[in-house]
Amino acid sequence: MTVLDQVRGLIERLSPEPICDDCISERLGLSVRQHANHKTRELAGTRGFERRKEHCSICGSEKKVIRYRTK
Ligand SMILES: [Zn+2]
Repeated sequence: MTVLDQVRGLIERLSPEPICDDCISERLGLSVRQHANHKTRELAGTRGFERRKEHCSICGSEKKVIRYRTK
């Protein structure tokens, strides 16, 4: 399983709640913040994934979050 698959899986499990890059890194134990950032940017271009500035459902901070919409 690639890191991208792990990130995608985490976001899909949380759906429709949004999660920020920092929380993704923490949950998955990713080493660098840039790593999650790179993956979410990649996913944002994928059907169903939406990236925007909003309150993260995990840490509550207003920052760039990503969520997966099933519809
Ligand atoms: Zn967060």
